[in-house]
Amino acid sequence: MSELRFDLIHNHNVIVAPERNKRPDDSLVIKEETKNCPFCPGNENRTPPESFRFNDDLNKWTIRAFPNKYPAINQSLTNGNSGYQEVLVETPKHDQMFGEYSSNQVLNLLNAYKNRILEIKSKRNTKIVFVFKNHGKQAGASLKHPHSQIVGLDFLSDPLKEKFRALKSYFNKENKCYYCNLLSLGKTIYKSFHFRAIIPNESRFAYECWIIPEKHQVFYENISDTETGDLAQMIMKIVNAINIKLDNPPFNLVLQNGIYDEEIGDSFHWHLQLIPRLYQLAGFEWATGMFINPVEPEKAASELRKLI
Ligand SMILES: [Zn+2]
Ligand SMILES: [Zn+2]
Repeated sequence: MSELRFDLIHNHNVIVAPERNKRPDDSLVIKEETKNCPFCPGNENRTPPESFRFNDDLNKWTIRAFPNKYPAINQSLTNGNSGYQEVLVETPKHDQMFGEYSSNQVLNLLNAYKNRILEIKSKRNTKIVFVFKNHGKQAGASLKHPHSQIVGLDFLSDPLKEKFRALKSYFNKENKCYYCNLLSLGKTIYKSFHFRAIIPNESRFAYECWIIPEKHQVFYENISDTETGDLAQMIMKIVNAINIKLDNPPFNLVLQNGIYDEEIGDSFHWHLQLIPRLYQLAGFEWATGMFINPVEPEKAASELRKLI
């Protein structure tokens, strides 16, 4: 069972999850990867029972989801809270890079995120559902086969509580949402009809890009079909620019979504964060909780803008 611990002094939560150590590690697997990979076609019986599948015209799956076999948070934590984690295999192709996806694949992936969020939110007494993707070992991926993870929690960590409290107080003071304001303050990389990709002035990591809907929207799952199509195109452009500029770096993609608590009102605005992982966090960050960003956001945005 995973345990939730709280550092009273430094105001952070830790989930102690020994089960995570049993996760498969494919770093030593060079050949026969696809034979051993639980996410490859033919090995479906090595994953927990499927919760979602998207088939192509030939009735073969192109996306499938199932509960995470090695969750950081299993059904219940020692303090009575609980979580639910799913893995979403994004492609049947073991070696396909995110930058190689067709726009239709990205579109199906975005629709799959929406489907899983809606289901996880309705099934459980859920407070928040978020999605993330770790691409590459340095970004935390334990298996090479491209996949995302979807997590539902019936509680908020203390930093999340703090964040939503700060957003609410910003909204009350400014009479508008922090992210609506950020749309005009951040350094724009690209603007589509419904979305804007920016680099925030205070970004923690070099070339960290945020994709934000131009229209105020609290929850990702309320996205329309037209917006999803536009977002798929936008993601492809940004990923492509980052891959050219930084030579296919490892990255984290995080979908930051609203919480299911009427208290937040309109103070949150969903967005995607694409964070290239060019270097490890080290002693300074651990000691101070402060991040060191070696590339000026203004410079990073102007470099990426030229590549779109
Ligand atoms: Zn595979
Ligand atoms: Zn907003």
